[in-house]
Amino acid sequence: MDELDGPVAVIPHSNPDGDAIGSAYALAVVLKNAGKEVKVITPNDYPAFLSWLNGEVEILNYLKNKSKSGKYLDSCKVAFCVDFNEPGRVDEMEQALSAYGGTRILVDHHPFPADFCDLVVSEPTYSSSAELVYDLVIAAGWEQYLDKRAAEALYMGIMTDTGSFSYSISRPDLYRVLSHLMEFGINAENIHTRVYDNFSSDRFRLMGYCLLHKMVILTEYRTAYIAITANELKMFNFTPGDTEGFVNIPLSIQDIVFSALFIERENYVKASFRSKGSFPSNAFSSSHFNGGGHLNAAGGDSRQSLEKVIEQFTQLLPDYLHLLENA
Ligand code: 5GP
Ligand code: MN
Repeated sequence: MDELDGPVAVIPHSNPDGDAIGSAYALAVVLKNAGKEVKVITPNDYPAFLSWLNGEVEILNYLKNKSKSGKYLDSCKVAFCVDFNEPGRVDEMEQALSAYGGTRILVDHHPFPADFCDLVVSEPTYSSSAELVYDLVIAAGWEQYLDKRAAEALYMGIMTDTGSFSYSISRPDLYRVLSHLMEFGINAENIHTRVYDNFSSDRFRLMGYCLLHKMVILTEYRTAYIAITANELKMFNFTPGDTEGFVNIPLSIQDIVFSALFIERENYVKASFRSKGSFPSNAFSSSHFNGGGHLNAAGGDSRQSLEKVIEQFTQLLPDYLHLLENA
């Protein structure tokens, strides 16, 4: 722990999900327990259903408080970059991160990490960054600093990145990690409830609306997509996190192997992709949507209009017919 001299920053990706917040928060709690000055800096806001993780370590919102977050980052000798594999994933914070003069340590499970950190801990076979943070803590000899709170955060990261233990769950060691986390006396049911039973009714009405009116099934291509306009988000009083999980739903339809969700934002379209089997969501996203991710879960964006994005997407599918048929 002595090698980590001075204040430390832990940075998850922008629009952080459960794994990004869970793994960053857990690492920060462990460092704090070891007597370090540490803060989490999120590039922007994070969803309310993840907000139960706070109290032990301060979480700064870079977008809301650039001056304080920037000053803190610059005071740090070490910044952990957690759950992302390229500097663009911190959006508004990218410049601050690239100008940062200290040591950047990557802790991530996305394939093909870009060369932007001084030390790289990258394990694409892991379910989640949380699982990797656990291993890092043990390997570094920091087990004594792991506590119930850090265990809860790690459990949440693993739970959310595996769709509540429904995918990326084949690594036997995962269950050893979970077993050890349970020994801290965490309440797994309670964590599930805090994350998944904590949405607004508007969110479910938006989901119902999307499934009834917006989901398009392209049987020939074993593909489904949903495109949501900014106006529709407004109709359902959208708040961050409301569309979390929507992109997974069509994959539960028989014979659908590829699902896309397009969301119209202020000046871009956010794209999410999910697939089954061998269909490479990440290659699809990096080739056409300026993004990346895992084989079966990827994301990206486009500066085109929502209509153009849909047109582009549907016109691309014939090129992928062979991969879709054999996924
Ligand atoms: P989601 O669809 O939930 O936003 O993201 C799914 C997966 O794709 C996550 O693993 C996430 O890290 C990755 N991802 C999402 N958006 C982007 C992006 O714009 N660029 C890259 N490289 N990866 C992304
Ligand atoms: Mn993750």
